[in-house]
Amino acid sequence: MTRLARATVDLSALRYNLEVARQLAPSARIVAVVKGDGYGHGLLQVAAALKQADAFAVSCVDEASRLRAAGFRHRILLLAGYFEADELPVFAEYSLDPVIHAEWQLAPLERATLQRPLDIWLKVDTGMHRLGFPAERVPEIYRRLRSTASVASIRFMTHLARADDRRDPMTEVQLDAFAAACRSLPGERTIANSAATLAWPQAHAQWVRPGIMLYGCSPFIDGLECPWLQPVQTLEARLVAIHQRRPGERIGYGGIYACPEAMPVGVVSIGYGDGYPRHAPSGTPLLLAGREVMLVGRVSMDMLSIDLRSAPNARVGDAVVLWGEGLPVGRVAECCGTIAYELLCKITSRVQFRYVDRGGMG
Ligand SMILES: *Cc1c(COP(=O)(O)O)cnc(C)c1O
Repeated sequence: MTRLARATVDLSALRYNLEVARQLAPSARIVAVVKGDGYGHGLLQVAAALKQADAFAVSCVDEASRLRAAGFRHRILLLAGYFEADELPVFAEYSLDPVIHAEWQLAPLERATLQRPLDIWLKVDTGMHRLGFPAERVPEIYRRLRSTASVASIRFMTHLARADDRRDPMTEVQLDAFAAACRSLPGERTIANSAATLAWPQAHAQWVRPGIMLYGCSPFIDGLECPWLQPVQTLEARLVAIHQRRPGERIGYGGIYACPEAMPVGVVSIGYGDGYPRHAPSGTPLLLAGREVMLVGRVSMDMLSIDLRSAPNARVGDAVVLWGEGLPVGRVAECCGTIAYELLCKITSRVQFRYVDRGGMG
């Protein structure tokens, strides 16, 4: 028996979720967001499964050049553009589209002599207050870029801060601000992340930029299950020991959990060294043979403990699912005070990744 801490990635579910995005935004093209190593699923495997996307979005030249080296010829957006002027020749060589979001990025582009001009995405800050030009500066920045020899085409982009809350009026405020900022300027637009792809059709524009939904997770704050998506990742480990505990016996580091009665407690072969969150509290759900069991005590580096009172037939060697079908990552994340995105990104290289394809759409 080897130590099992394994993530299974369902490639057909990735394809299926991409198709869901297509059906929801039939008139838009799709930028599949594969930053953060494909949200922790493996950049190249994810990109191959999502090759029907119209473009990819990544965070840095390193991720983009890995896609090019693997033969992907899609449009590739760099969501924060270039970080240094000396990256610009790489943008030209690999045909990468920078997002231009700040004043300092203009001068290097104006000075550069590139082997080919770049398609750029001009980012407008409509209320996220992270990257982007204020709405009132857009016409001026547009004109400056328009007269830059290294710029081939200009598209417009903004990012929504609260689209994950379907009742929040801020999204409409941002949509109006964006429309006003680039009114009468020619060029395609992109606004929508996953939440807006799913819930704000008025934000679809010419390109949508879904990320988390492709990985089968709900982006919404008020519904962690997203029945129309298929879960992509299953994180599994196995039971390596089962002990009968006496009432009052304490489990693990710090003894933070005391057994309320005589009960079986199992030890599972995964911990924070694999990326399972250390701050997961007692009561966080896991699945054993399809049934929910609960985490008890502190998560250690290589192991965690579970209450087996609801699984009297459990045996050493049984698989335990940390998240996957029947237990959305988002539910585990909520127990830990975080979001699915973070849990997915934090899986470490010690976890063995396995890619399966069930054929068809998903
Ligand atoms: C990460 C990101 C996305 C995708 O967001 P999801 O919530 O994962 O769909 C879209 N646009 C930008 C600018 C991003 O940084």
